[in-house]
Amino acid sequence: MKWSALPREKVACALCGSDSPILLKQSRGWPVSKCPVCGLVYLSERPTEASLASMYSNEYYDRAEVGYGGYVKNFEKYRGIFEGLFRARVKSLERFRGSGRLLELGCAHGFLLDHLRGQGYSVSGVEVSPVASGYARDVLKLDVHTGSLESAGLPGAQFDIVMMLDVLEHLHRPGPVLREIGRILKPGGVLLVQCPWELSHWEEVMETFLRGRKTGQMNPDAVPAHLYFFGPRTLEAMLVSGGFSVVRRESGNYGAVRRKVTPPPINTGSPLERLFRLLYFRLGVQGILYGAARRVGWGNGLIRYARCEPGGG
Ligand SMILES: [Zn+2]
Repeated sequence: MKWSALPREKVACALCGSDSPILLKQSRGWPVSKCPVCGLVYLSERPTEASLASMYSNEYYDRAEVGYGGYVKNFEKYRGIFEGLFRARVKSLERFRGSGRLLELGCAHGFLLDHLRGQGYSVSGVEVSPVASGYARDVLKLDVHTGSLESAGLPGAQFDIVMMLDVLEHLHRPGPVLREIGRILKPGGVLLVQCPWELSHWEEVMETFLRGRKTGQMNPDAVPAHLYFFGPRTLEAMLVSGGFSVVRRESGNYGAVRRKVTPPPINTGSPLERLFRLLYFRLGVQGILYGAARRVGWGNGLIRYARCEPGGG
């Protein structure tokens, strides 16, 4: 089935409940809109929850229309790059390690969980895709539940860390999921959330220029799998609405693997543009800018650690 043909539903803002979306752009036939009250950018018409679940179940990790193409094969091929990212992740997680009990919601095939297990963490996962979660269980011998977090029926107050990496922007009901995470975290445990900073980001403006598009032409990624397009403020507001308070902010390098695997072409456009592209994509300007941006919190990945407020949500 094509993503554009999925059954649709119109929705109000998931953050403030306001229902007066302002259309910013039609992307692949889906309306990317902004809430005039709280500023959340979201799909004001989106695939129904049931239809999207079927897409993740069947083809998300192996067909490339919206999801990932050849997920396992890519991991095997670029294992060195992924493991470098995993080591950086472990280093950052250490300060919140506690007893090392960790859950990843949306763990896909379990590659990161496998790495964390090797670092002494006691790991579990939840994953909606039967194919991916089956691989995690059968090949990697991980403890992974197939389905939603709610359907896992986990006992309360048992995890030091719950991770959601590139997951929150996919959830139809982020509020109830955040509250369920609050319930299963130990007192003092942390939620780690990562999602792309897709819109109104400096890099988007720069790449728009380098790629010869006019500025203001947004290019939100992964529509309609992504239901929200967060910036720092709206992401933190979402966490607060789910009963959390942010305790640590990090800036990520989103798309690092994709850029190494499929670097943008440089032999295109005017001679001046080619020169810019050569400098930016091949001769290190992009890397220098990314490093500088991350130091001041402007990297293109939003990473937040948050603690559940007692009685919050
Ligand atoms: Zn709103």
